Amino acid sequence: PAGIVVVGASLAGLRGAEALRRGGYGGPLTLVGAEPYRPYDRPPLSKHVLAGELEPGATRLPELTALRARWRLGSAAVALDRAARTIRLSDGSVLAYDRLLLATGAEARPWPAAAGGGLSGIHTLRGRDDATSLRAALVAGPRRVLIVGGGLIGCEAASCLRDLGLPVTLVDPNPTPLAKTLGTFVGSVIAACLRASGAEFRPGTMVRAFEGDASGRVVRARLADGSAIEADLVIAALGATRATGWLDGAGLMADPGGVTCDAACRARTAAGAACPDIYVAGDVARWPIRLYGGRLVSVEHWSNAVEQAAHAARNMLAHADDQRPYEHLPAFWSSQFGINIKLVGLTAGADSISVVQGTRASRRFLAVYGQAGRSIAALSFDQARWLPAYAEAIRAGDPVPPILGAADQPRIETA
Ligand code: FAD
Repeated sequence: PAGIVVVGASLAGLRGAEALRRGGYGGPLTLVGAEPYRPYDRPPLSKHVLAGELEPGATRLPELTALRARWRLGSAAVALDRAARTIRLSDGSVLAYDRLLLATGAEARPWPAAAGGGLSGIHTLRGRDDATSLRAALVAGPRRVLIVGGGLIGCEAASCLRDLGLPVTLVDPNPTPLAKTLGTFVGSVIAACLRASGAEFRPGTMVRAFEGDASGRVVRARLADGSAIEADLVIAALGATRATGWLDGAGLMADPGGVTCDAACRARTAAGAACPDIYVAGDVARWPIRLYGGRLVSVEHWSNAVEQAAHAARNMLAHADDQRPYEHLPAFWSSQFGINIKLVGLTAGADSISVVQGTRASRRFLAVYGQAGRSIAALSFDQARWLPAYAEAIRAGDPVPPILGAADQPRIETA
């Protein structure tokens, strides 16, 4: 038999492979990875690695099970032939499979070439190699760093760079950082932390283009509001697109937003049928989330990669009549500006947010996001002890909890 092939040798790929072995799969197992490294952990890249506390190579993920796998590292899958059940790799070789697990994750969105993207000194941060070159650039002592995008990675990078004492400006089109993920009510607390750290925060505007010197090094950014910012190092933290380009023409429902799968994590064909032999997990998956009315989501969080990979592996080994739906409550953590931030649930569609413990001013609080009176997400700022209880309430669809005495008044989100 050709066995099982896992495409993408990172968090979801590794955890999926482990779950296959733990689930009793004894056949051939191959992991294909575009990067030349054994699976490693990305969260430290924008935290301890950027801070210089951890070498990029020290992020390797523990392998918890004897995988007995064939590793094809440093070669990307470039084409899928579902009829022949083969994939072609960038080195020209062809691998046959009986079942396939797609775990190719996501890629940092690059700065567009037409707007100065080819200049040196413009970095993205997604993988080990990115972290290594960014770290080298930081050690060289930039005069001013510009971070484009106040999402999780942009904010974590700003926090690290301020700890290193580097001059930082962060530009984001929204009124606050993390506006899309957490809303502006909470984002305003991050904006205050960002400014208190000594970073300059420029909300409500966008970088239009970068300009370079004669040697092709970035020197300044031109903004939509007509102003310019001098910067010799740029971190473009523009979010990620799913690594699905190699699936063009494979007849799957796949695009830069992900590979659509059914509740059992089986990839859908372009016509909408579930493939019995192709499963999807991790950042690359776009899946129906039962807790939120079955709408399709793709979640870029560590815990989803781990749990969805294990779930997909379980279904890969199960009979067609015993395919279990993936029931997952999304959750992530972030550390920035000395604060541990945790979110459970999805905030999209929230029409209320209430601080239920602590206060925003103290930067220790717990907030619940509601929609039509029901809890849909809970956020903790250095206050994680009670989060599991709120997660239970979200799973159960409980009403938004009452506000305690001194807490902030509930507010309707305006963003
Ligand atoms: P990825 O980790 O993206 O791995 C996909 C792998 O597939 C890559 O190695 C890629 O090279 C490979 N690949 C792609 N295309 C192909 C191909 N055609 N053939 C072969 N291989 C291919 N989440 C949190 O919850 N908390 C955090 O604090 C946090 N911090 C983060 C910080 C950074 C800097 C980054 C980048 C992410 C962070 N995340 C965090 C998100 C988390 O790391 C991801 O959700 C997780 O890595 C997803 O795992 P994955 O295996 O699905 O995809």
